[in-house]
Amino acid sequence: MRKKASLVVVGGGIVGLATAMEWSARYPDLPVVVLEKEREIASHQTGHNSGVIHSGIYYKSGSLKAQMCVAGVALLERFCEEHGVPFESCGKLIVATSNEELPRLEELFRRGVGNGLQGLRMLGREEIREYEPHAAGVRGIHVPVTGIIDYARVAKAYAAVILERGGEIYCSSEARAISRSGNETVVETNTGEIETAFLVNCGGLHSDRLSRMAGAKLDLTIVPFRGEYYDLAKDKELLVRGLIYPVPDPRFPFLGVHFTRRIGGGVEAGPNAVLALAREGYNKQSFKAKDVLGYATFPGFWIMAAKYGKVGVEEYYRSWSKRAFVRSLQKLVPEITEADLVPGGSGVRAQALSRRGKLIDDFSFAYADGVLHVCNVPSPAATASLAIAKYVTDTIVRHVGDPHRTASFAAPALD
Ligand SMILES: Cc1cc2nc3c(=O)[nH]c(=O)nc-3n(C[C@H](O)[C@H](O)[C@H](O)COP(=O)(O)OP(=O)(O)OC[C@H]3O[C@@H](n4cnc5c(N)ncnc54)[C@H](O)[C@@H]3O)c2cc1C
Repeated sequence: MRKKASLVVVGGGIVGLATAMEWSARYPDLPVVVLEKEREIASHQTGHNSGVIHSGIYYKSGSLKAQMCVAGVALLERFCEEHGVPFESCGKLIVATSNEELPRLEELFRRGVGNGLQGLRMLGREEIREYEPHAAGVRGIHVPVTGIIDYARVAKAYAAVILERGGEIYCSSEARAISRSGNETVVETNTGEIETAFLVNCGGLHSDRLSRMAGAKLDLTIVPFRGEYYDLAKDKELLVRGLIYPVPDPRFPFLGVHFTRRIGGGVEAGPNAVLALAREGYNKQSFKAKDVLGYATFPGFWIMAAKYGKVGVEEYYRSWSKRAFVRSLQKLVPEITEADLVPGGSGVRAQALSRRGKLIDDFSFAYADGVLHVCNVPSPAATASLAIAKYVTDTIVRHVGDPHRTASFAAPALD
């Protein structure tokens, strides 16, 4: 028999789970189901990231990223305190390593103040060393509210709350077709069909495919960018106390390789940003023709390639050359040598690209025909997950009205 739910969320990453949890808090009597194609939740971006609780300093004032990151930090930390998820507000340094970077550093400081961040400090060369004795830089910003956390653990805590409230999470359940009839959406999965009044697409690296599956014409594609890390050798971890970041290049939506202390111990260096040859391509050798053809046949890809070609080639070089990777890191901590780094993990970012070749910077969402598509939620979406969930739930309600009054939402029983 076909299953039924008031809300189906496709994608058991941190954004999908936060959305299901928010729904179950607001509408405990209207069942929610999360579909996740992998055997476990948090298997992709949520389980392969830097584990940083971002402060909101980087994002343009008024952008969704700025609003949701700042709101998300407070919500996330409160949730973690209530549910025993460890995190540490260790603060971070952003350092300008040349005079040319100073105007951008000052702009970041202004953005941070504009976004309401408390306690920001502009530092001189000597003050940088009070926080990070081995870091180099002409000036820096200390950002006290930045923290570290394990987002896979956060996602598991969200999942536990969903289950406690009577929601369901089906792992190894891949959405393969989506159709709309009347006021209902039917999702076909490898384990059967599920009927719902409303669907949220939180498919991460596959969100564009899911939106096409649902018949939406969104004029964007997901381009996968792999981020590779090295780990600092145990006896060199003392070179980094917390987090040390460069001033990001404003033309590119990534932050540049940096040092990150992990909540579970150890220090990572990275990630770079290499165009991946598979959406879930965690290794240099990963290749999936369907994925490459997917973006190579999208008109915006070649516009982007022309614009970022040089940076892209440099990133490939740095991916294969440890020496080049170390040279970037030495700008931040000059004492680091190749021998101090051992290969670490990797993650793949889902980055939306427009038909006009623009890497979409801000979070982006689209509603079409009973489905809310979460189109672009790159970093800091893990930090912002609870704020995103509120926005998504508000958007659903804006489109359907009070779910209790919408006939098709009337508490269908799960069988
Ligand atoms: C290298 C890297 C570093 C990052 N660092 C940070 C950081 O320090 N701080 C921060 O805040 N953010 C960071 N981010 C960003 C953050 O990890 C992501 O923005 C966030 O995890 C996105 O969550 P999500 O739920 O949208 O995606 P995902 O975690 O990718 O989840 C999507 C899920 O959908 C499932 N799915 C896809 N298609 C289907 C289908 N057809 N049927 C069923 N399930 C499906 C997938 O299996 C997957 O589990 C980083 C990201 C990367 C890659």
